[in-house]
Amino acid sequence: MKKPEKLIVDGKRLDGRTPDELRPLKIEAGILERADGSASVELGANKVLAAVYGPREMHPRHLQQPDTAVLRCRYNMAPFSVDERKRPGPDRRSVEISKVTREALEPVLFLELYPRSAIDVFIEVLQADAGTRTAGITAAAVALADAGVPMRDMISSVAVGKIDDTRVLDLTKDEDNWGTTDMPIAMMPRKKLITLLQMDGHFAKEEFGQALDLAFKGCEQIYGAQRQALRDKYAIKKGE
Ligand code: UDP
Repeated sequence: MKKPEKLIVDGKRLDGRTPDELRPLKIEAGILERADGSASVELGANKVLAAVYGPREMHPRHLQQPDTAVLRCRYNMAPFSVDERKRPGPDRRSVEISKVTREALEPVLFLELYPRSAIDVFIEVLQADAGTRTAGITAAAVALADAGVPMRDMISSVAVGKIDDTRVLDLTKDEDNWGTTDMPIAMMPRKKLITLLQMDGHFAKEEFGQALDLAFKGCEQIYGAQRQALRDKYAIKKGE
């Protein structure tokens, strides 16, 4: 597709959304039998799975920490998940995303409860349309809760950005390509603490505040869907 003259026409984006609207979101918890915890997230055309194993004894043993568990995260993109086949295996991008995912999740975990252990988080992107790192973090947080790992708060994650000089929530690949700024955020939705903030492009100071507000609102919505997914899995009806 060629870059259209405008990415927002009459207040509507290329896919018909308003600037503060998320793509259609579907979250499911407990989808994999052999993982201790798991979740899937579909956000627009993104399809992402997360599987959690542990806390379990850390192997290899020399990586054990005597006073804490170690969180290990691996983000992986399937070769068929993108238009131009992605070469299988780790690359710079997936190593970076795995690292920031670990850092986004660690603050809500009580790792000190499980000395000498590992908690392993695997994120598999099956279909990508921008925002996969944030969808992966959202899925991983639900999978951790599904595994019964104690958590201080949930982690909800979404990207905000700027297209046609307008702040928008949850960019598609086209918006990411043709827009000027992409800012993935992860946060604790109840404590309102940010655990991931990256930025490709830039915001003026007041734009940054507005973008952050937009991300907070988006994360609140994602948090609602995360809780609902866990409620559905454990069949807790409202009021019980
Ligand atoms: N992408 C791609 N090939 C790659 C890596 C990324 O086509 O090897 C696409 C994919 O749709 C991805 C998007 O580019 O979602 C944006 O990638 P970015 O690195 O910004 O991460 P994301 O937005 O997915 O967290």
